Amino acid sequence: MNIHEYQAKAVLKEFGVPVSRGKAIFSAAEAVDAAKELGGPLWVVKSQIHAGGRGKGKFKEAEAGPAGGVRLARSPEEVAAFAEQMLGRTLVTEQTGPAGKQVNRLYIEDGSDIAKEFYLSALVDRETSRVAFVVSTEGGVNIEDVAHSTPEKIVTFSVDPVTGVQPLHGRKVAKALGLSGDLAKQAGKLVESLYTAFVAKDISMLEINPLIVTKDDRLVALDAKVSFDSNALYKHADIVALRDTTEEDAKEIEASKYDLAYIALEGTIGCMVNGAGLAMATMDIIKLYGEEPANFLDVGGGATKEKVTAAFKIITSDPSVKGILVNIFGGIMKCDVIAEGVIAAVKEVGLTVPLVVRLEGTNVELGKKIISESGLNVIPADDLDDAAQKIVNAVKGAV
Ligand code: GDP
Ligand code: MG
Repeated sequence: MNIHEYQAKAVLKEFGVPVSRGKAIFSAAEAVDAAKELGGPLWVVKSQIHAGGRGKGKFKEAEAGPAGGVRLARSPEEVAAFAEQMLGRTLVTEQTGPAGKQVNRLYIEDGSDIAKEFYLSALVDRETSRVAFVVSTEGGVNIEDVAHSTPEKIVTFSVDPVTGVQPLHGRKVAKALGLSGDLAKQAGKLVESLYTAFVAKDISMLEINPLIVTKDDRLVALDAKVSFDSNALYKHADIVALRDTTEEDAKEIEASKYDLAYIALEGTIGCMVNGAGLAMATMDIIKLYGEEPANFLDVGGGATKEKVTAAFKIITSDPSVKGILVNIFGGIMKCDVIAEGVIAAVKEVGLTVPLVVRLEGTNVELGKKIISESGLNVIPADDLDDAAQKIVNAVKGAV
């Protein structure tokens, strides 16, 4: 689960991470009050969306002006003017995809005088089963670009969970960033606070880009992107309360209610598959035959009729779906259950696009019989290859 920057900063602040003062606002009128309360003389007006690259992003609407989603203001009036331009507009960044994201909240922050910009992130390293830190002197830029062009500028280390965070980790960060004296001490405290927060809140990834040194020699987390381990959310009601469902895909929210593994994608062929491996293979073969999948969907091993019906409804609710491919290997899952789920869903929501069904495995004959006797306009397929070609042809014929 992701949260907004201002929420991430509030969480990290509880653990002693240094952040600037700021206020989250929802209207331009609130912006002036927030600016006056913060005092100035420099303010930062920051679009709050669940995506990075806001500074270099562009708004779709002309009235938002050519500047990006993070702007420096020098008076409360300017803060209000920027707020007016950004709120309700759609920000497109490297991470939002071409559709962009609507800006509904802003964070008005006390502006910092930046002397240096660094990069720091922490994540779960699955290879070592530890929390790993990544630090670099190259802050405020895409870390992927740094990794590509100057990998020697990236320093990584991991923390042994038995001993926890140690002074040596602080020294590693200070050395990597060229900090000495009091700033090195601040780096030590920062690593300790971040590690403690990471473990206590079951964070799966946190990124501070940039981590800055101010002109008066303070280390400050100027940006914060934090994701939490969804499997641990039951322990953290305070974090769940920060969820902003307007930032999430409505179809993905619906799918999570039924415990379906669903990811919305940009293509035209809706896929209903059981098993993540088969779902991946199905997406691959659709691409091989020249079309794009509209989603990844794994209905799981022991799906019920209700779950299959819900999955089918989610797929058909997507207006970009021009055809549906049901590809089920009945192991634990029985083909007749799938067949009944599909029929129940079609009866409820109707079917306006071609549907190819490929069933194999447990109770396959019964499943095929149920479908053929249902009177539905289903295109049956014998195997994965046949199914993919049939749905691609059907969609191409329909366009
Ligand atoms: P992102 O573009 O989504 O990563 O958003 P950031 O929070 O990283 O802000 C983008 C850029 O705005 C930063 O890299 C900084 O260069 C700049 N910025 C943000 N806050 C301040 C500030 O307080 N003072 C100054 N001078 N620049 C800032
Ligand atoms: Mg940033």
